Amino acid sequence: MVVGEIAEAVDLLVVGAGPGGYAAALRGAQLGRDVTLVDRDGEDGVGGVCLRVGCVPSKALIELADLRHRTAAATGAGLTGAAPAPDLAAFQRHRAVIVDRLTGGVRGLLRGAGVRVIGGTLRFTRPDQAVVEPTSGPPRFLEFRDVVIATGSRPVPLPALHHDGVVVLDSTDALALDAVPDTAAIVGAGYIGVELGTALAKLGTSVTIVEQGDRILPTLDASLARPVSRRLAELGVDVLVGATAQAYDCGALVVDQGAERLDVKAEKVIVAVGRRPNTDDLGLDRLGVTPGPGGLLPVGPDRLVRPRVAAIGDVTAGPALAHKAYAEAGIAAEALSGRRAAFDPYGIPAVVFSDPEIATVGLAADQARAEGLHVKISSIPMAANGRAATIGSPAGYAQLVAEADTGALLGVHVVGPHASELIAEGTLAIELGATAEDLAETIHPHPTIAEHLEEAARAMLGRPINSAG
Ligand SMILES: Cc1cc2nc3c(=O)[nH]c(=O)nc-3n(C[C@H](O)[C@H](O)[C@H](O)COP(=O)(O)OP(=O)(O)OC[C@H]3O[C@@H](n4cnc5c(N)ncnc54)[C@H](O)[C@@H]3O)c2cc1C
Repeated sequence: MVVGEIAEAVDLLVVGAGPGGYAAALRGAQLGRDVTLVDRDGEDGVGGVCLRVGCVPSKALIELADLRHRTAAATGAGLTGAAPAPDLAAFQRHRAVIVDRLTGGVRGLLRGAGVRVIGGTLRFTRPDQAVVEPTSGPPRFLEFRDVVIATGSRPVPLPALHHDGVVVLDSTDALALDAVPDTAAIVGAGYIGVELGTALAKLGTSVTIVEQGDRILPTLDASLARPVSRRLAELGVDVLVGATAQAYDCGALVVDQGAERLDVKAEKVIVAVGRRPNTDDLGLDRLGVTPGPGGLLPVGPDRLVRPRVAAIGDVTAGPALAHKAYAEAGIAAEALSGRRAAFDPYGIPAVVFSDPEIATVGLAADQARAEGLHVKISSIPMAANGRAATIGSPAGYAQLVAEADTGALLGVHVVGPHASELIAEGTLAIELGATAEDLAETIHPHPTIAEHLEEAARAMLGRPINSAG
């Protein structure tokens, strides 16, 4: 800022309009703050990665792929006729409608709450000032009282594979495909790689997943990933583990696997090797904030980095998930508004929208034991569930981990259809300090996948009904 330029006064500044940022802005407004929300893409940025190029588009693609695949696989269940052909150009129009409806809804909420949205890239210039540079037009200078940093994350590129958005893609490009490729190689078997690989395979692509580690979904307990590995094999997905992508050459991904060098034929290569927080170009030194390892911002339970500066969502440690960002947003807005607030959940649920779905919250048995807890475990195969049979998805299981003495639930882990919906009950149970007895005595509707949690709890107590326990 040079002499003569006037800084606009801002009460609560929120940087980034993803799930973290827009939720913090709304909560701030509810608390009576005068809120300014800045996003690189202005009003178009509302919804961030999640609504625009992440959670929502990926789940829409998975839905399409599932629908097609299940219809094609339902001949034996009473549906005959040709399998419907995918039309990704039509899907992109459908996706745009969904995304516009959701982001339009959030924009309306922000307007209704009196939140001012400014477009441009923000950089801090002083502990209480920032400059916002729009793609066109003059910069704006803001002098703020409090700030929430919610600038999210971006894909990590692989130096060996130059991202061109045509052949070498990131997840955003992959979700924007308007034709189903014949062949695709996915580099990275984390949740984004597995979700995209499964969807493309169900749409008819011949998929190879290349993973440097020794198995898919390396951040999850190995037993949770096993049913998904089996299903990927059934879908014809080739999973190369202990394999490193080296280059793209003449229509093939060159992969080193041990002493072997393989050429994996791939019309498209999708790099999904992780994400990095957007904290490097923010001028954080001017704000008086030093990022920690990996560029993450160190925060206290109140999500404050230092007085008057909060950070939430993918720029902070913990799972990079939208619902974590939402939850932190409320805490940050309250803490900056003088309320006592702490982010202290017993568990943050995590879901992989794979086939079957994986959903997990709380402690895995090994984790609990490593913490010195004496635990009991109950695992019931999904094959014992009537609803899973009617859906035609009997793979997977539900597992409960409880404290041996008290029966208090410590972990709920589900692999199977609608696991993503079921895990909310597990999360609530853990948050409320419920026991296996509480779960077993709660009447669940029949036939549902949800009653599998009741069955697992009954089995833990030695009185299963529909399984051997
Ligand atoms: C393919 C994919 C699928 C996913 N699926 C799921 C899922 O199923 N469930 C789930 O919970 N999570 C999912 N995620 C993760 C989820 O999208 C993120 O955890 C979530 O979006 C993080 O929210 P955020 O508010 O921290 O940041 P973001 O959503 O990343 O938003 C950050 C915003 O900040 C803006 N910004 C950045 N820097 C600046 C700057 N200097 N100035 C101004 N604006 C700036 C950006 O334009 C962006 O709009 C998925 C992610 C991907 C990529």
